[in-house]
Amino acid sequence: LSFDLPSWLQRHIPGGRTTSSGWYRARCVFHNETSPSFAVKVTGNRPGSFGCLAASCGRKGGLVRLIKEVEGISWAEAFQRIDQPNPFALDDVAVSDQVVRAPRATVNPLPAGLVPVSAERYPTYLRDRRYALEDVAPHGLLFGDGACPTLRGYLVFPYWTIDGQYRTYSARRMGDDGRGPRHLKPDEGLANAMLYGAWRIAALPRLDRLYCVEGQFDVLRMWSLGLPAVGLSTASTTAAQRNQVVEIARQFDADVVVLLDRGASEDQSSAEIASLLRARGVRAESASLPEGVKDPDGLDAASVKLLLDIGNERALEQPMEQTEGSGVQGAQDD
Ligand SMILES: [Zn+2]
Repeated sequence: LSFDLPSWLQRHIPGGRTTSSGWYRARCVFHNETSPSFAVKVTGNRPGSFGCLAASCGRKGGLVRLIKEVEGISWAEAFQRIDQPNPFALDDVAVSDQVVRAPRATVNPLPAGLVPVSAERYPTYLRDRRYALEDVAPHGLLFGDGACPTLRGYLVFPYWTIDGQYRTYSARRMGDDGRGPRHLKPDEGLANAMLYGAWRIAALPRLDRLYCVEGQFDVLRMWSLGLPAVGLSTASTTAAQRNQVVEIARQFDADVVVLLDRGASEDQSSAEIASLLRARGVRAESASLPEGVKDPDGLDAASVKLLLDIGNERALEQPMEQTEGSGVQGAQDD
């Protein structure tokens, strides 16, 4: 790593001193104070982790956030400072895919006779909804093309645990020819205990913000836009699902943004989930979709940039006001 944290600290947060336990102590850069409440870890695990000990401030986070917020730059620029790929880059989604490992083991067997979604077997349904093969393939989606009679014509979403063990699946009928129900969930209880797509998160080198969305297609769309996300099976969470969100947030020291579909009850549910997560010590906020987008699945590169700008301008506290405010667009230009 070419990034030199001690000299960066001297330059940007001058006047501090490094303690024998390896923390740089200085006056807080986020609030006015005379005694040094601000601490940045210089040695050991996760250097750059920071926190303000003043109860009225309490700002904290990891290295990338420190650089970003102190220098007032974008996520992309902050990742450049430390020579790391930006997992949030909108035009460089392949970066996040490079670090994704394949799921390891299967506990329950997947139904036999399914084939991986491929260029040759690419359901029109996906093509019509602008899902590229490279959006879909890393999620290990499968297609029932004949050898598995109960799942013929269905797209199958396998659910893996965070450490890559297969548990169950859900399936969506691809054609609208009326054969069989639109959705299949052989074990809904199990699906409600899991976060769809969580195993991909575990493989990331770093994660500053985790999006919790509703459903599997929203997860695909968010990842395709460079935004790591996990999917809830419904517009609410079970304790098991919240436990996993908390685990991921702690592991990465990440913020969590709950982003359900647009609607009054969904907004209320988003707020409730965020509040339950905050009660567990996670920095969590609910967010509303940009105007004109009903569902995260409807996001594209332009509207998701608006969403990111909203977050980066710390408008997550008041998402409703900010989505209609002026000056949100163009706040960041990368
Ligand atoms: Zn402070």
